[in-house]
Amino acid sequence: PYDVLVLGGGPAGASAAIYAARKGIRTGLVTERFGGQVNDTMAIENLVSIPHTDGPHLAADLERHVLEYEVDMIKGQSAAGITPAGDDGLVTVPLTSGATLRARSVIIATGASWRTMGVPGEDEYRNKGVTFCPHCDGPLFKGKRVAVIGGGNSGVEAAIDLAGIVGHVDVVEFLDEMRADEVLQRKLRSLDNVDIHLGRRTTEVAGDGAKVTGLVHEPRDGGEQVTTDVEGVFVQIGLLPRTDWLRESDIELSERGEIVVDERGATNLPGVFAAGDATITPYKQIVVALGGGSTAALSAFDHLIRTSAP
Ligand code: FAD
Repeated sequence: PYDVLVLGGGPAGASAAIYAARKGIRTGLVTERFGGQVNDTMAIENLVSIPHTDGPHLAADLERHVLEYEVDMIKGQSAAGITPAGDDGLVTVPLTSGATLRARSVIIATGASWRTMGVPGEDEYRNKGVTFCPHCDGPLFKGKRVAVIGGGNSGVEAAIDLAGIVGHVDVVEFLDEMRADEVLQRKLRSLDNVDIHLGRRTTEVAGDGAKVTGLVHEPRDGGEQVTTDVEGVFVQIGLLPRTDWLRESDIELSERGEIVVDERGATNLPGVFAAGDATITPYKQIVVALGGGSTAALSAFDHLIRTSAP
């Protein structure tokens, strides 16, 4: 069995594996693919101490760093569940391949994925104007006109944030009202470079072949399509934690399906920790995930030295 088994190979999982392996304990890492959401990212300019990098480089750097240590890396495999430790103190993790892994402690770092609109142009112009992360990409649109899709808390927070950087923000919401907290809506309505479009269905992200030029939308109940000229489209219709595989387990999940952890990254199951975008951590960012992974690994080590002689 492993001393520490990390599930997920994004920033949180990579950081957890490095911290665990540096303790000289038997460390395994199982991931569907290595690098996580970082693979889908172009410019990364907020990874503190690295002014500019991009997804493919960061993913490769993370992997190289992990492999400097004795980490048993299993790629192309997914965890399918988790069973709490019994009398032998071992947590069991079945994989979708049918294999089963056992470990004295487990760190869950299976991340999240952004919900997409599924309209023409969205995929084609991803990272060419279509983006999912205002904290990451807002400054790229300084002084320009952008649209924010979604009037929930994340959409309205994004719009308020962006209004201070970009020239103009159009918020497009499918329902007839925004679901964001009232205080956020009030703040949004007070900004003079923001227009709010309610009851509108986005039908297309328009572009010139190289970058976004506009957003096509229509009344939800049918009617004439309108194209709003924008250079950026921020899609804010939900970040889905990748925790479906835990639904049948005893791990406590929040209403949104995020793993409930304490400040040490501990879940409700003894010896099971979690980090990164899959958890209730409020800010989903690379530096936050890296920090969460190290916290979870140090907590797992603490658990190991308390539960039996290392
Ligand atoms: P993830 O990166 O989601 O990694 C989870 C990993 O677990 C994946 O490799 C996945 O394949 C694997 N996995 C999932 N389920 C299983 C399973 N059952 N078994 C085994 N493995 C599994 N943040 C910034 O700080 N700066 C940026 O500029 C930035 N830009 C972004 C741009 C885009 C387009 C996106 C999508 C995100 C961006 N982010 C950015 C956010 C950042 O990428 C995430 O916060 C970070 O990757 C979260 O790390 P994580 O390790 O928790 O999860």
